[in-house]
Amino acid sequence: MLKSIDWLVIQNGCLLIVKNPALIHVPTTQDVSVIKTHFLRQEILNESENNQIYCAELDTACNIPANLTLIPLRQTLALLGTPWFNHIVKACSIINWDKNHQYCGRCGGKTIRESSHFERICSACTLPFYPRISPSIIVLIQRSDQLLMARSYHFAPGTYGLIAGFVEIGESVEEAVHREVIEETGITIKNIQYFGSQPWPFPDSLMLAFTAQYASGTLTVNTTELEEANWYRFDHLPGRPGAHLSIANQLIDHFIKSQQNKPPIA
Ligand SMILES: [Zn+2]
Repeated sequence: MLKSIDWLVIQNGCLLIVKNPALIHVPTTQDVSVIKTHFLRQEILNESENNQIYCAELDTACNIPANLTLIPLRQTLALLGTPWFNHIVKACSIINWDKNHQYCGRCGGKTIRESSHFERICSACTLPFYPRISPSIIVLIQRSDQLLMARSYHFAPGTYGLIAGFVEIGESVEEAVHREVIEETGITIKNIQYFGSQPWPFPDSLMLAFTAQYASGTLTVNTTELEEANWYRFDHLPGRPGAHLSIANQLIDHFIKSQQNKPPIA
């Protein structure tokens, strides 16, 4: 069986890629010094070939060869697309989980990696620790031919996104959508519909995307959460944050297309 290997090597929020403008790809040989290595997955390509994906953290003391370069993780979605981006999310999550769970949070005992799957077990009290997934919601709210766009304080100047937030313990995803919208904007919504999902490694989110219709209330921005929010017509939208394949941008593109395809009013 022929084996090929892809390496997802990560350091400080960046991914190591082959520096070749004609072919953006992750390295297929491990030419750098790494701290820890984790096997991520195997893909059977055909009867005689398979591809394995490993992840590792780059040793800070390592000199990066001239043919490789580090790029910010947020850019990898645009450069490599899915499913590579999903593999990278998994790599980040596994590396962080392994680093952050070396000792038991209950008794302080040393944890041991279960080799067959992603589980660390306390050697003293057997408490298990797994990689964390934090469900988050993001919602596109429509009012006629407009949608609600909002600015967080950390957004680049002139860019606006959608209402988003983490699902809290003890609430359903649908309740989280209603709560985030009313907390941040003061309005209520109706007709919530599931749109899709996307893993997002900042730090360990699973973004669950929805569309909804405006129902009632006056837009009142919660300035502890948002800098600004407003209704924008589909053909007069402000700038958006990067990562054009992000689920936020997919939602907005879907809305624009639905409005452009609407039959003219007779
Ligand atoms: Zn323990």
